[in-house]
Amino acid sequence: MELWYTEEHSKDVRFSIRVDKQLYSGNSEYQKIDVMTSNEFGTFLTLDSLMMLTEKDEFIYHDMIVHVPMATNPKIKKVLVIGGGDGGTVRELTRYDTIEHIDLVEIDKLVVEVCKEFLPQTACKLEDPRVTIHYKDGLRYVRAIENEYDLIIVDSTDPFGPGEGLFTKEFYGNCFKALKEDGILVNQHESPYYENYANSLRRAHERIVEFFPITRVYQAHIPTYPSGYWMFGFASKVYDPVKDLNAEAWNQLGIKTKYYNTNLHKGCFALPNYVKDLLENK
Ligand code: SAM
Repeated sequence: MELWYTEEHSKDVRFSIRVDKQLYSGNSEYQKIDVMTSNEFGTFLTLDSLMMLTEKDEFIYHDMIVHVPMATNPKIKKVLVIGGGDGGTVRELTRYDTIEHIDLVEIDKLVVEVCKEFLPQTACKLEDPRVTIHYKDGLRYVRAIENEYDLIIVDSTDPFGPGEGLFTKEFYGNCFKALKEDGILVNQHESPYYENYANSLRRAHERIVEFFPITRVYQAHIPTYPSGYWMFGFASKVYDPVKDLNAEAWNQLGIKTKYYNTNLHKGCFALPNYVKDLLENK
């Protein structure tokens, strides 16, 4: 009998992947964790039956969430990652010798353990000496921090369940406070296409705009996320991600990427009109 993983992307649309093998299934205190393999996408992780990453397309998400802010300010030294227990974001950050410390705040220890066992492709740098893992709620963690980080990356689940607090006004205000005077906040920002995701994107953007003087939204094509079209939020105290990009300086670092490049960096901020209208609440 064939086994399929099916995810509801809107109330009238489902997305399915034929499963080769189920490698892991378990429940943590916070969520249901599954690891499966597929001929097309390799090993993939779902939380509460929602796609987190696949071996085949995770490079797009992790390139875009890391290299866009890092190329905007290559002097970044201290980074906070909230969520991201699969390790993909940390893996990309550790490629910068200039980064001195990374705090990873992941609510669910079991996600990290399961990824270390089944997804070494993303979890491979979690033991880097510059990385400290805190098993805490990111919402609570940032409450106590002031003026400490050059970059905060919110690599969270969607705005329900444990991830809900990471889309609130309180959280964004505390991220602003936790960042240094030239700090940058980047977050996974859902999709503009289906209404349920588009509403989350619009609300999150509205809240971030209240705190940060510079706010932009950028895009990437991620085949296994709802609609295949995904957004990231870029918020900053000083740097403009397009005007302040020093492409030559980043290219000289010699970091080899499969998706990101400095031309794409400029292009990814050029949004279609329906997305601009959504963000401007038209
Ligand atoms: N790339 C993924 C995506 O956009 O679908 C995100 C992947 S990563 C596995 C998301 C992580 O955020 C999960 O491991 C989850 O446990 C963690 N998380 C959710 N809510 C959190 C919170 N309040 N504090 C810290 N981590 C949280």
